[in-house]
Amino acid sequence: MQKTILITVDLEDWFQVENLRSCFPHEKWEKSLLRIEASTRNLLALFKKHHVKATFFALGWIAKHCPEIIKEISENGHEIASHGFNHELCNTLSRAKLSQDIQRGKELLESITNQQIFGYRAPNFSVTEELISILKDHGFIYDSSFNDFSAHERYGSLPGEWTVEKPGLLKGYNGLYEMPVRNLNLWGRTMPWGGGGYFRLIPVRIFNMGVEKILNSDHTYLFYCHPWEFDPDQPRIRSLRRDYRFRHYVNIGSNLSKMDRFLHHFSGCRFMSCHEYITE
Ligand SMILES: [Zn+2]
Repeated sequence: MQKTILITVDLEDWFQVENLRSCFPHEKWEKSLLRIEASTRNLLALFKKHHVKATFFALGWIAKHCPEIIKEISENGHEIASHGFNHELCNTLSRAKLSQDIQRGKELLESITNQQIFGYRAPNFSVTEELISILKDHGFIYDSSFNDFSAHERYGSLPGEWTVEKPGLLKGYNGLYEMPVRNLNLWGRTMPWGGGGYFRLIPVRIFNMGVEKILNSDHTYLFYCHPWEFDPDQPRIRSLRRDYRFRHYVNIGSNLSKMDRFLHHFSGCRFMSCHEYITE
């Protein structure tokens, strides 16, 4: 069985991250410096170099302000999926508000790409039972909001009965698919191995060894990252809480070359979008 890597990108800008929320509440977004087009183009160039087809979970707010980058990603052959509109945690919204945020994001992305949007990822992996039922109502085929690294305080849990459809793909009671972020099980513990800040923190050789272990047992690995994680020239917010500052900026300067080495190391694998993997 050929090994498959699913690269996913949460398309949001540096000031929209939960760890920076105290300095950049939603009211400040309109006046914040947008850097997402340049940082996304760096990633697109890297993906082209390594023949990677990825999935971009785009924030509706970004699609509204930068529709061109959504088109560009789509024209490069990547899948556009949804990250909601305003990046509010699903477990803090009423059903009506969550439903509205999801529908608004989906409609906008579909009008920009002229394509159906199949997938959704909750901000900060804040999956809830309500979210799973709402997604089905709005015509989504899959969700990718579950991260089983339970030590992170904002991650949600996956409720209900799920059956394994194939490696890395679960099917829920209502027919919705789930594509969880993949972590590493080591000595009976779940180690955060899905990407993001953990990818920046762990030396690439060790990270690659962990991914190899996952691929050897499961043949499939799902990775996530954000364009701002490859943008060392973004404004530095000095007043941030020390732990949030560490999480946001650790190894940001070397991350693009690290990603290059990571993709090169796994060049024998196939890289495909989430929707392609579900429907192949
Ligand atoms: Zn996000």
